[in-house]
Amino acid sequence: MSDPFFKPVSGFDLPRFAGVPTFMRLPHVSLEAAKIKDVDIGIIGVPWDSGTTNRPGPRHGPRQLRDASTMIRAQHPVSGIRPYEKINCADLGDVSINPADIEDSMNRITSFYKKVIEKGIKPLTAGGDHLTSLPVLRAIADKGPLGMIHFDSHTDLFHSYFDGTMFTHGTPFRRAVEENLLDPKRVIQIGIRGTQYDREDLDFADSVGIRVVKIEEFFDRGIEDVMAEAREIVGERETYISYDIDFIDPAFAPGTGTPEVGGPNSYEALRVVRELNGVKIVGADMVEVSPPFDLSSNTAFLGVSVMFELLCQMVD
Ligand code: MN
Ligand code: MN
Repeated sequence: MSDPFFKPVSGFDLPRFAGVPTFMRLPHVSLEAAKIKDVDIGIIGVPWDSGTTNRPGPRHGPRQLRDASTMIRAQHPVSGIRPYEKINCADLGDVSINPADIEDSMNRITSFYKKVIEKGIKPLTAGGDHLTSLPVLRAIADKGPLGMIHFDSHTDLFHSYFDGTMFTHGTPFRRAVEENLLDPKRVIQIGIRGTQYDREDLDFADSVGIRVVKIEEFFDRGIEDVMAEAREIVGERETYISYDIDFIDPAFAPGTGTPEVGGPNSYEALRVVRELNGVKIVGADMVEVSPPFDLSSNTAFLGVSVMFELLCQMVD
């Protein structure tokens, strides 16, 4: 018999600054390894920012997130959940992308995730810019459109950029709705704010029934009330969680390409994920962490702290 549970390296045994960094200090298990059949949740890096229209850098996200994740211990501070004693979690490495070719990269990502899904592994992704979510959804939504709870300061619902470019980090969920990967009536976007180009993205949301919770409503109603609505909108069926680090106020998460002021603090950033109890999560991502703009590395630390919250919800 193989090990029932893959254990992360504890700071009691090896100092956190030592050793080869993997996500959460878990074992690295490649898709070709024999042990891959025992993995339940795979944490995957997608070092890719070819969809970025503004300040780049998320291609460096997975490496920085791995390093910061050595700070994350094995037990949840509130629920007491010890995810690594319930199911097998592993670092599946990075998708081998092609930084010079967007379509080729999307195909590589989708085929990697198809293998992950075929093995019965639930993916937790460390991006990468937000275009990453589209090729991931192409692999995960294989049995029909998914619901989605999306934390972001932007809708990422634009039709196109630069006179007809369809695949950017501002368009992934427009494409996902068009490709029937998402059921728009089971999609909620939370945290939307900032100056706008126009109303094109919001008009699209209205036209297909996507629920948009702008930051004013989020703070006026409070986290518990908004998240209760989010749970109701996605219901009991399969749901994807997409978490753009720019959902969080740039005072707490400055290391991102398209920051918007007036957002949630780091406590609120964790708290929204704790309200996902009962959601049937088939995959989740943390995107848009940009190490070149993260001079303190606190953005990456907050990013992996949110990833641990997501992991605990995926286990539960
Ligand atoms: Mn986004
Ligand atoms: Mn954003």
